[in-house]
Amino acid sequence: MRVEKDDSAISRVKCVVSSCRYYGHGDHCLASHIEIQPPDASDTEETDCATFSPKR
Ligand code: SF4
Repeated sequence: MRVEKDDSAISRVKCVVSSCRYYGHGDHCLASHIEIQPPDASDTEETDCATFSPKR
């Protein structure tokens, strides 16, 4: 899911995925919005940010 990259971080989200194009210094997410998957997750390991896009 490709979204716009904002200047400001999403409040209440800490993300440490520094390889993501939306990652901001200080473990912030600069995506305009994010989507977390899947709907039927049963533990922490199963959940992922579907908005993740690798830095180029
Ligand atoms: S889009 Fe997802 S993986 Fe990328 S910085 Fe934001 S929360 Fe982290």
